[in-house]
Amino acid sequence: MDAAFYRSVCIIPSRTRRGEKALRAKEFIPGVERVLKNRGEPAYRLKQAYGALCGGLARDWEEATALPKGLRVALSAEAPVAVLELTRTSQATDGTRKYLFKTHDGHLIETVMIPERSRRTVCISTQVGCPMGCTFCATGLLGIKRNLKAREIAEQVFAAARDIAPERVTNVVVMGMGEPFLNYKEVLLALKVLNDKDGFNLAARSIAVSTSGLVDKIRRFADEPEQFHLAISLHTPFEDERKEIMPVASRHSIPELMSAARYYVERTHRKLFFEYTLLAGVNDDKRHVETLAELLDHPLYHLNLLRFNWTNTGFAATPKQEAKEFLRYARELGLSATLRPSRGQDIDAACGQLAAKDLQPRGVVPLARA
Ligand code: SAH
Ligand code: SF4
Repeated sequence: MDAAFYRSVCIIPSRTRRGEKALRAKEFIPGVERVLKNRGEPAYRLKQAYGALCGGLARDWEEATALPKGLRVALSAEAPVAVLELTRTSQATDGTRKYLFKTHDGHLIETVMIPERSRRTVCISTQVGCPMGCTFCATGLLGIKRNLKAREIAEQVFAAARDIAPERVTNVVVMGMGEPFLNYKEVLLALKVLNDKDGFNLAARSIAVSTSGLVDKIRRFADEPEQFHLAISLHTPFEDERKEIMPVASRHSIPELMSAARYYVERTHRKLFFEYTLLAGVNDDKRHVETLAELLDHPLYHLNLLRFNWTNTGFAATPKQEAKEFLRYARELGLSATLRPSRGQDIDAACGQLAAKDLQPRGVVPLARA
């Protein structure tokens, strides 16, 4: 190979990666970057600050001892570490922990940490409320206040990691409050920081995003270089029923959705998860299984069943035995499927229950050790 060609393929990409990393840090902590610039600090300080925050999980700049004292004082005054105030921590009988945070402008959001054998999964929010209006979801009832910034999204994971240390966060699921693909840029930046070796350093395959089905963004997500996982909330294979329970279905038909799904698996060769909340008498009939078997006929598709968690929306959960029968029949018809247990229901921490409704700070519940 000629030397110039070798340099062009081997050196330029690494420079580009360095440039991308600096840009990522700038976008993630713009306030810090401004302080460093105003003080005429050398460029490597940004990387040090970013590392202290995302890798070192510093609670305040005083803990970032790689930075000189004067700079730590300036940063503490002008670009404080804390972007979310942890207002309350509650713990369910199954060990699930829920965090209630207050944003700088007074909004409340929730995050959940689910322990399961060797896993510690953190479920994060991407919006204050959600505008999608799914009729069974407590977050949907809130409407939307605003999108969260990348820093606020990633900080939920940092806070959970500090809480459970020395245990480590092993997985992140973007399944809390909000429709992540309505806040695409900030969500992706947060996930890249969580995945970044110089950041939180969590494998991309340990991170999953769930969407109610925004087809353009599903395609865009498929084109991202990182190997993040994707789940699509389907909830029924029938167009009319889906329109009744998920207003997004009036924007994108099921064939459109399935075409985006097909694009995703063909482009990424990764498994694609379909979320299916079992609602008694709504979407839990034999004919649902039969049509699902036709719709999800692809070796990379996986059906994730979940019984409805109670919310004040007028729906009820499919009884356990019927849910098991739904699963059995789905498997009999050839579907790859699982029925997920609900976690954290006694503190309203299960899927669809996040409504940040508890305004009374009651302090921190100590982490129960097994
Ligand atoms: N907004 C995204 C991700 C957050 S919701 C989405 O809708 O995909 C995470 C999952 O919980 C979605 O599949 C959602 O439909 C489901 N869900 C909402 N309310 C629920 C409830 N009360 N019980 C069980 N699952 C629910
Ligand atoms: Fe929003 Fe997801 Fe709830 Fe629908 S299910 S209202 S998209 S959070």
